[in-house]
Amino acid sequence: RAKAGGQGRIEYFTPALGADSKERTRLLHGLHRAFDHDRLFLVYQPQVSLTTGEVLGVEALLRWRAEDGTMVPPDRFIPVAERSGLIVNLGTWVLRTALYDLGRLHAQGFARLRMAVNVSAVQFSQPDFLDILDEALRDNPRVAPERLELEITESVAMVGMERVAALMREVQSRQVAVAIDDFGTGFSSLSYLDCLPADRLKIDRAFINLLDTERPGARIARMIVPLGHQLGMKVLAEGVETESQANILRELGCDEAQGYRYARPMPLDELLSWLQQQPPRP
Ligand code: C2E
Ligand code: MG
Ligand code: MG
Ligand code: MG
Repeated sequence: RAKAGGQGRIEYFTPALGADSKERTRLLHGLHRAFDHDRLFLVYQPQVSLTTGEVLGVEALLRWRAEDGTMVPPDRFIPVAERSGLIVNLGTWVLRTALYDLGRLHAQGFARLRMAVNVSAVQFSQPDFLDILDEALRDNPRVAPERLELEITESVAMVGMERVAALMREVQSRQVAVAIDDFGTGFSSLSYLDCLPADRLKIDRAFINLLDTERPGARIARMIVPLGHQLGMKVLAEGVETESQANILRELGCDEAQGYRYARPMPLDELLSWLQQQPPRP
């Protein structure tokens, strides 16, 4: 919300912003309580190879079931957690839980499965981020670091390009991969992309939606695949919902896809039975 509103509007919309900050406070209280009472959990969405159909990884996504049983979407509570700093502890919990669950998936026979974890810019720029990462890896010795991938958005660039690039290299020196999430939205700048040593580029759903249309942006969407490859990254398409989108992406040489076309995010037990139902691949 803060992102969408231009700065000049702040005074003009004082009453609305007041309500917003009240709402934020309410959300934050609720989120603290939910965190303390184990009402947060992770769901996992498969990432599949566009060439073989094989499930190569899953992305961990945070869920909050409020006391009245309704789900609060992450797009509402993550920004609140970021503003308050709660995202740091929350993010640590997500990382550790996802790694632990990955260990269980590996033990169940899905030994090559990769786990992608979203890392907020606030979290990534904490001075002890690498210590937290090291500790999480140390506490999950069954999981090889190369099976972990951190997803960061372009907003980390606001931390400072040099610093982000250096941090990414530190992460990669531990064999942990880094993906750029939601590419094409927000504060996109093509020049910075060349400065970040990412392993994977995730094309935002907004672009995938344009792929099989003639709407403005459709041609740009297609160019993101070769762009990522040119920069030495693997490319994954987010929010793939239709066969037609999948076909275009395959023609473009996109490596992987994630979206309702394949599977929705699922709790671990559901994911396990879903994985067990997948046809065996060479
Ligand atoms: P994201 O990381 O880009 O995650 C992808 C979002 O797209 C997820 O929304 C997923 O449920 C949704 N999605 C996947 N496939 C489809 C599709 O085919 N169609 C449509 N319409 N949507 C699809 P979700 O789970 O609501 O998460 C929203 C955002 O919240 C995430 O976007 C991420 O930025 C943030 N988030 C979620 N979990 C975490 C977390 O643990 N830490 C941090 N820092 N952020 C998180
Ligand atoms: Mg993500
Ligand atoms: Mg995304
Ligand atoms: Mg996102």
